[in-house]
Amino acid sequence: MEIDEQIFEFTDDIGPEKIIHLYEPRTGMKAIVVVDNVAAGPAIGGVRMAPDVTLNEVRRLARAMTYKNIMAGLPHGGGKSGIIADPKTVNKEQVIRTFARGIKNLLEYIPGPDMGTDEASMAYVYDETSRAVGLPRELGGIPLDEIGATGYGVAECADVARDYINLDLNGARLVIEGFGNVGKPAARFLAEKGVILIGASDSKGTIFNSKGLNIEELIRIKELTGSVTNYKDGEVLTTTDLLLINTDILIPAARPDVISDANSDVVDAKLIIEGANIPITESAERALHERGILVVPDFVANAGGVITASVEYHGGTESLALDRTKNTIRRNTKELLDKVYNEKTYPRETAVGIAKERVKKAMKFREWM
Ligand code: NAD
Repeated sequence: MEIDEQIFEFTDDIGPEKIIHLYEPRTGMKAIVVVDNVAAGPAIGGVRMAPDVTLNEVRRLARAMTYKNIMAGLPHGGGKSGIIADPKTVNKEQVIRTFARGIKNLLEYIPGPDMGTDEASMAYVYDETSRAVGLPRELGGIPLDEIGATGYGVAECADVARDYINLDLNGARLVIEGFGNVGKPAARFLAEKGVILIGASDSKGTIFNSKGLNIEELIRIKELTGSVTNYKDGEVLTTTDLLLINTDILIPAARPDVISDANSDVVDAKLIIEGANIPITESAERALHERGILVVPDFVANAGGVITASVEYHGGTESLALDRTKNTIRRNTKELLDKVYNEKTYPRETAVGIAKERVKKAMKFREWM
């Protein structure tokens, strides 16, 4: 009885439908796959590779994908997987191929890239299973990180959200936590709207200049040396000090739970657009909202990557992917924030309400598969 309760501890009215532990004893490959909900179609979700990835993390990310995909109007449910391995030390091709063989018959799950995996990893998955998104160009893929699909959507989201707090993007100050595949294009696309990047961080530290950082130079330095802290014209701070910077817009674009009840009170921003998945705990999001800081939740703001992946899967082009990203994210941000401001609710609760209602409508049309 006790075991049963443990296994089903996290189930609710929409999922998760399948939780699978994979173990291949010859190579020692260990992985977790969560298929959360497939009412709208086969689940799309990334394959994360990290030595410390947990069932709880994979489960929460799988649910975030269910919400993200249904919000974006994609014919896909949500899932996620985690391979428990250090991508820097393992034979990545071997581990990925072993994982892919393990999920070959799990037809309702379409893997994509995530932290620790990339387009080459997806090419191996595709070779083994004939299902994957985020493929290299040579295999018909749309390289979503190269085109900055998620950052593009994040910038469009900010452009809609600013109306609700009377923020002029022209001259607005921006701080980015995690200057990677989401953070860099977000900075570029927001700069096109007149925003000034004043702070950016990575795992090694933060670079800050209240007069503005040169984005192209910062990207060059990050790519050349591995860290933003080697940029010359700025003050180097610790990674965590980034949150103390007074700014108009803050984009967390790195790890989960970086802002929690332990540090949310130091955040000094007007608008937060969640570029990363689950970067702020739910109670911290509420606390920020109480302080008048508008937070647009991850699955509304950062859907550009999965929209692009879905367009790729269904044979569409790069320009269609960008158009769809822009239109979908602008429409969803407006629908969400109209509701939040009219009904005086919290953004995440409201967004989850909209997404869950759509999932439940989709579920009415489907038998369990
Ligand atoms: P990335 O690896 O390209 O970049 C992450 C950056 O964060 C790196 O520069 C890294 O140095 C930095 N970083 C790591 N730990 C940090 C810390 N503690 N503080 C500050 N910076 C830190 O990853 P990415 O693809 O940009 O993804 C970032 C987040 O966005 C992840 O949560 C990912 O799941 C999410 N996400 C990515 C996409 C996408 O299209 N790439 C789409 C949706 C969501």
